[in-house]
Amino acid sequence: MRQVAIYGKGGIGKSTTTQNLTAALAELGRRIMVVGCDPKADSTRLILGGLAQRTVLDTLREEGEDVDLDEIMKVGYGGIRCVESGGPEPGVGCAGRGIITSINMLESLGAYEAELDYVFYDVLGDVVCGGFAMPIREGKAKEIYIVASGEMMALYAANNISKGIQKYAQTGGTRLGGIICNSRKVDNEYEMVKAFAEEIGSQLVYFVPRDNMVQRAEINRKTVIDYDPECVQADEYRGLAKAIDENEMFVIPKPMTQDRLEDLLMAHGLLDSVA
Ligand code: ADP
Ligand code: MG
Repeated sequence: MRQVAIYGKGGIGKSTTTQNLTAALAELGRRIMVVGCDPKADSTRLILGGLAQRTVLDTLREEGEDVDLDEIMKVGYGGIRCVESGGPEPGVGCAGRGIITSINMLESLGAYEAELDYVFYDVLGDVVCGGFAMPIREGKAKEIYIVASGEMMALYAANNISKGIQKYAQTGGTRLGGIICNSRKVDNEYEMVKAFAEEIGSQLVYFVPRDNMVQRAEINRKTVIDYDPECVQADEYRGLAKAIDENEMFVIPKPMTQDRLEDLLMAHGLLDSVA
């Protein structure tokens, strides 16, 4: 069983990419569980056909400690098992607590004993800290992908996330599997994100184009593969799935200094307009 954490800046496309990727992996026959680790709890909606699943924290609040697995785990497209950790009331308590609670809960209910090929954790945040480090800190997810784009802030976040991974990799077995570029149609984007990935000792594992088909599927509460399996973007997600399924490059990242990162962005023309 491969346990994979997806990190990246907020709004970069982690949940969209994770759901479309897992739909494509399910199409290949892989058995998958997705654990949403964002208090927004929107990591599994497209797999569940628009259902806003009740979160683990809400279930515990409403039902007490005695819950069954099927109260916190729903099965969606391609047999994908879906869990949403949830979070505290906004402004109250640690947003990472839901993740800790969920993983412990899933463990005690035997969710990891099922015949699974993959568990994906869709984790929010620009940095890997506190509760959000939980999937890797506890040695659950040994494999990480960072979703980024050619936008400066996305690469700053990716570099910061690499710092966190580096720290946990030294004590646990966590490794970076690569950078997924979720395109924002920035100039030189492919070259820049590829250069970034290689500079930190990793790889650009796949370049996902920006395509309105993603929105169209989303409005219809589906992944692209579910909504229109014949479209071009569906094949892109199949390409991403294949790249991850066959990936053999796992490294401890070497994050850059801020100066080096800015040089890299400059070299690819990104900072010209803001300098
Ligand atoms: P995150 O989980 O990182 O916060 P989301 O997955 O919610 O980000 O993505 C934010 C929005 O970006 C989504 O509503 C989705 O419609 C859009 N989006 C993500 N990836 C693509 C893409 N490849 N092409 C077009 N739109 C995309
Ligand atoms: Mg998300």
